[in-house]
Amino acid sequence: MDTRLLMMQLAYLRSAVLFILGLKRLSHPDTARGGNQLAAIGMLVAVVATLVGGEIISWQWIIGGLLIGAAVGGLMARLVKMTAMPQMVGLFNGFGGLASGLVAAAEYLRYTHGKVIESGAVVSDVPLDSSVSILIGTLIGAVTFSGSLVAFGKLQGVVTEKAVKFTGQQVLNAGLFVGILALMGWLIITTPEAISAADPASVNLWYWVLWGAAMLLGILLVIPIGGADMPVVVSLLNSYSGLAASAAGFVLNNNVLIISGALVGASGLILTRIMCKAMNRSLANVIFGSFGEAAGKGPVAKGEKRTMADVNDVQADDVAMLLAYAKQVVIVPGYGLAVAQAQHKLRELCDNLESRGVNVKYVVHPVAGRMPGHMNVLLAEANVPYNQLYEPEDVNPDMANVDACLVVGANDVVNPAARDDPDSDLYGMPIIEVDRSKHTVVMKRSLNPGFAGLDNELFYLRNTMMLFGDAGDSIGRILEEVKQL
Ligand code: NDP
Repeated sequence: MDTRLLMMQLAYLRSAVLFILGLKRLSHPDTARGGNQLAAIGMLVAVVATLVGGEIISWQWIIGGLLIGAAVGGLMARLVKMTAMPQMVGLFNGFGGLASGLVAAAEYLRYTHGKVIESGAVVSDVPLDSSVSILIGTLIGAVTFSGSLVAFGKLQGVVTEKAVKFTGQQVLNAGLFVGILALMGWLIITTPEAISAADPASVNLWYWVLWGAAMLLGILLVIPIGGADMPVVVSLLNSYSGLAASAAGFVLNNNVLIISGALVGASGLILTRIMCKAMNRSLANVIFGSFGEAAGKGPVAKGEKRTMADVNDVQADDVAMLLAYAKQVVIVPGYGLAVAQAQHKLRELCDNLESRGVNVKYVVHPVAGRMPGHMNVLLAEANVPYNQLYEPEDVNPDMANVDACLVVGANDVVNPAARDDPDSDLYGMPIIEVDRSKHTVVMKRSLNPGFAGLDNELFYLRNTMMLFGDAGDSIGRILEEVKQL
């Protein structure tokens, strides 16, 4: 191995180690920022090693791509709202899959166009190991690309959120998958030379048929899943995009791509498992079930319909009094906090309460919000100290001693039906048991349901107070009142 190649491989090894250390650090809020930076340095090392490795054919394409990509990425980062992050991540996964698929396609075309020359002779037959990785990379890349586009469309509301199901769907999917495998097998055993001898025009045709079939499979796999389950699907597609990158690594014989792709694949799968567990669902149930088909479209009527007359409607001054004179306050943030962007005001209110001697705990449910870690990101943005963050199981046992729970735009994660009603779609999902505290204040704009589309008995309990309005405005008003006490 010449020195240049050795240096490049060593740099790749270094960046793979940095990725692994970075991932490890991401597992705790205290170390997560550092972990992110380590992984970013790892990526920089890999990019620089590739650029100076001497295998660059054309700088114009790289610089052009860099400029366009940076401009689009920078603009998106500025313009996309925090609440639209899940679909953005979905889109990025799709582009990751497409990029890996295109790498595989470029390598396939290099062979079939007679661009691979070894020992002075044109290699027109794709070697077995290369063709296997090219075709696997193509399959996973294309499925990830089209599946992610559908997931993006569902989350963005441009494709129906409802689960699209029809008779014979599973059979069609299975048949298509078997057909794809058969085509891949045929492409592996038949040389491009043999194909072109039979019909010169069709040398690449079957390869593009594979692309089309794989993209169709991606669409068919995602359309039967309801909008409410899309975040889990996005996480699964994220894992696929890692596998596609890993396959591209095998195609290019690039170790760092193989390792980083495998890391993304494995962590995406772990994240999918964690999300399913926190929602008390199996992955099979998410993929083949139809929970939340029409999520968030209005209260689900179970028994008689409740109205505003059934709740205990309070004002900011009542809540301020309750909080300021409490010993223990638990804050439960949910998706509404992200919508209201009220994290800074919330932190200010909690700081004020702490300065009065109130013990404040933020309890974060693993699936609160619309993406994993959504609430942690918001609270970190407002510099809430990590030692004030708790998990539901840390606080639930002592809930009866909590004077007041402040539910800020959360709904499903505090729905007692998940614990008490075996007929509820949420049944079995662990919740933050705010209904067992002395008083609960729920901040939201209406009695509308949350993501799961289910009514919440919590709102009608005797010890629950409803403070209606945008969470940001409500917290602002409570803060003003607290300051005057
Ligand atoms: P929910 O979706 O259950 O409820 C959010 C509540 O916020 C709504 O009821 C809404 O009520 C309220 N809200 C919206 N905007 C505002 C605002 N500006 N001010 C005040 N309130 C507002 O959220 P949760 O966080 O409790 O639960 C998350 C749900 O998402 C769960 O069902 C979970 O399974 C699901 N999910 C989460 C994933 C994740 O990774 N985090 C992944 C997959 C699914 P109103 O309109 O009346 O204001």
